[in-house]
Amino acid sequence: MIVHIRAELYNTIVQYALSMVPHEACGLITGSIHYDIQTKSFIPLNNLARNPEHHFSMSPQEMIPFLTDPANPVIGIFHSHPTAPALPSKADLETLWHTIPTHWILSLLKPSTPDLQIYQIKKAPLTSAHKLSFVIGQ
Ligand SMILES: [Zn+2]
Repeated sequence: MIVHIRAELYNTIVQYALSMVPHEACGLITGSIHYDIQTKSFIPLNNLARNPEHHFSMSPQEMIPFLTDPANPVIGIFHSHPTAPALPSKADLETLWHTIPTHWILSLLKPSTPDLQIYQIKKAPLTSAHKLSFVIGQ
């Protein structure tokens, strides 16, 4: 699977992320998947994390109108790492949004040469278990 990104879209994302430094920038990527991924647009969203220098958090209320728009499907979730490499942090791997097919991380560790990496994050099927009561009939 290859993700196709127009230079204009890439530049938009990099410029937005740079403008948000020292905070992590975040947003959604729309496009389509037909074996390969074609990207269409970037939707910047507010980073509501309490420490936005090192985390990002997006409001479901802000995301859901985009996640439920069939005309412009969300195919990626984006955030930047102003001072860290483009590797998912532990918190990134625990994201609730693992149903979104691609996770984009842009490192601005070297601002003159931003490093974009795109990941697929798959969750183990069982992350928690609840005990259920049962009765064995006679
Ligand atoms: Zn991160």
